[in-house]
Amino acid sequence: MKAPPAELPQPTHTLASFCGYINKVFHFRDFLPNLSDARHAPDISAQSVFLALFHGFVFRLYSVPQLEADLTEPHLQRWIEAKRAFGDDVLRYSLCGFALEPLTEMLVDINRRLRRNKAFEPGRVQGRMVAALDGIEVLSSYSRCCEFCLQRRVVSLDASGNPVEQIQYYHRAVGCQIISSPVKPFLAIEWVQPGEGEDTAALRLLHALPERYGSAFFDILLLDSLYAQAPVLKLAEQLGWDLVISLKQEARQLYQSAMGLFQSRCPEHCFQEQQGGTTYEVRLWDTEGLPFTEDHPQPVRVVRSQETVTENHYRRGKLQPQTSEHEWLWLTTLDPRVFSGPQIRRLGHDRWKQENNGWNDLTQNWALKHDFLHACKHRPKVESSSGERQPVANHGLAAVTLIRCVAFALSSAFVLLHSKIFRRYSLSRREVARQLYRSLWKDPPDIRAPA
Ligand SMILES: [Zn+2]
Repeated sequence: MKAPPAELPQPTHTLASFCGYINKVFHFRDFLPNLSDARHAPDISAQSVFLALFHGFVFRLYSVPQLEADLTEPHLQRWIEAKRAFGDDVLRYSLCGFALEPLTEMLVDINRRLRRNKAFEPGRVQGRMVAALDGIEVLSSYSRCCEFCLQRRVVSLDASGNPVEQIQYYHRAVGCQIISSPVKPFLAIEWVQPGEGEDTAALRLLHALPERYGSAFFDILLLDSLYAQAPVLKLAEQLGWDLVISLKQEARQLYQSAMGLFQSRCPEHCFQEQQGGTTYEVRLWDTEGLPFTEDHPQPVRVVRSQETVTENHYRRGKLQPQTSEHEWLWLTTLDPRVFSGPQIRRLGHDRWKQENNGWNDLTQNWALKHDFLHACKHRPKVESSSGERQPVANHGLAAVTLIRCVAFALSSAFVLLHSKIFRRYSLSRREVARQLYRSLWKDPPDIRAPA
């Protein structure tokens, strides 16, 4: 009797195929010569520091110490063209004075190529591409601060239960991300500076976007209630972006006039939606032509959704339904003849579903909460305009964040646009990262990243 055919081993991703793809499609290597930092004649180049961190993010390494441990291995050193092992002291010293503009140019070019290669076509809503802007807190500390830290007073309880007020230092950024397509790269990140509000940073980002990408890069922008402000509406109108902004009671006038109107009316749409084990009973009101504010009476449309959400929870071994009530309001400039109320609701809810967006990884796994790069006292010195030699302004956090965004965009493109193995074997993205990591150690020791 013939033995059954041996099962073929499942093919895996290799670092060589990943690098081949990003070099061919995104000309990745062409950007490396532009990278620089503020160090003087370092023996580990800025390119090697960049590649070390870039691969750390692509492999989804757990932490900086893990990257340091791997950097002692000749395989990784050859791959990133470093002459020797190096640790977090070199990473910090290089990154705190890293030139941000070449990293920004790299991210912009990658995103423009993604768009040209039609990566943002799938998932368009009524033919439109959707982006979202959100604020994200990146790290906080009670003990360390740098010149760009924001501060707040936090009250906590001491060991005897008495309230103690402490100053907490933290960093916040706003990020704009494409969210309608499977590949969801960040287009730009803007840091909130000391003494300014998050809305100011967001406006700076929105003004910078058309300079980098052109105004027609996406069509619809989803925003949080914080950004329901006249300058945002004016800018969007000028650039031809449509808006969907969630509204809260603080949005004063408009919220009140919309609620007053809706209370005397029956909902326009009533429907039920099932998602996993959760049921949504939705009642939807929709009205046009409400003035945004007295000072800026641009007519806007407001959609309100009242939702009864029923989820099944296990209690004492029994599956029991639990019901809660929710209310949402959105301001939008989208035309009701093209976008129905239920579509506005869907878009409004999409803003909250940016899971897997890269921030969680960045803050949870990269010890950024634990002061890597924060307040580096030891920094390269540069000559100021008055001729004095002073430590370079610390841009470490901004540099790491941009490198993270580049790695996130390129690994997403590799997995979602290029890999056949990913789809055929329904792998997780973490598993692809592990395969790339393992392939580094399997390849012969004389390999280099393919040029
Ligand atoms: Zn700081």
